[in-house]
Amino acid sequence: MESYQMHKKDDLCRREKKKEGAAMYREHTKTIKIGNQVIGGGHPVLIQSMTNTKTEDVAATVAQILTLEKAGCQIIRCAVPTMEAARALGEIKKQIHIPLVADIHFDYKLAIAAMENGADKIRINPGNIGSRERIQAVVDVAKERQIPIRVGVNSGSLEKELVEKYHGVTAEGLDKVKIIEDMGYDQLVISIKSSDVLMCAKAHELIAQKTDYPLHVGITEAGTLFSGNIKSAVGLGIILYQGIGDTIRVSLTGDPSEEVKSAKRILKTLGLRNGGIEVVSCPTCGRTQIDLIGLANKVEDMVQDIPLDIKVAVMGCVVNGPGEAKE
Ligand code: SF4
Repeated sequence: MESYQMHKKDDLCRREKKKEGAAMYREHTKTIKIGNQVIGGGHPVLIQSMTNTKTEDVAATVAQILTLEKAGCQIIRCAVPTMEAARALGEIKKQIHIPLVADIHFDYKLAIAAMENGADKIRINPGNIGSRERIQAVVDVAKERQIPIRVGVNSGSLEKELVEKYHGVTAEGLDKVKIIEDMGYDQLVISIKSSDVLMCAKAHELIAQKTDYPLHVGITEAGTLFSGNIKSAVGLGIILYQGIGDTIRVSLTGDPSEEVKSAKRILKTLGLRNGGIEVVSCPTCGRTQIDLIGLANKVEDMVQDIPLDIKVAVMGCVVNGPGEAKE
């Protein structure tokens, strides 16, 4: 309890800093340890993704996680819909190198089993876990093992007047956090998600002003590769640029490796990540003298795993080529 009180004191300091007008919220969020990673308190924004294999299938899930690790994923989340999936986490964890998050809905026993089997963090929605006693049982195990809990609020179903929606989502998120805080636990991460980009951005602005817990940010159910990438880039761009967000996920209907690739690019575009070659290519026009579209795609594929922090320009003619090449 003493350390909990100390956290509370730190929280007050952080709130004071915000009142002074510090825009970079993520500099002042609470530091939370998730397995071998640390988020919040100005630590780099980490990339998260989620497996789409059956978690019960250890071999398939491990293979996908290792591929995602290679692509740049830093925290991985697995759905835990059954007791068999919860038990599989132990074996999965032995074979991977990044923190493993268990995604739980409805059954508090699954949350407890996931933690007992080595989950580094759990994601729950207290609203569907059930009675206070059941939430308390989950919090007790999390507290004993110091496993952080991500409290998720999904705003997708709220369809009232806009201003009401923003405040409703924020208040709902904070209410859920308070339930767990009142149980004496504060190793928490909050996520507020919506597939409505502008509503999602506004809800994040509001909640960032009201809490010091790290925020996991993403545009949920963003869609297929094309539209999902655009919605995520716009939404995450608005949110991250304001200094909000400690971990991100680009949600795409597709291969999770694409989510990681897109997340890396979004962070790099915003100056939140270094490393990796940036390919600059012209849009082509009547002066183009080569198969520039094919060449640009080929170059992008070739350089994607090279860790150098440089730009490579692929230009179709001499008009812009020399200037870009010089850079
Ligand atoms: Fe056209 Fe040359 Fe500009 Fe490419 S670099 S768009 S080919 S003028």
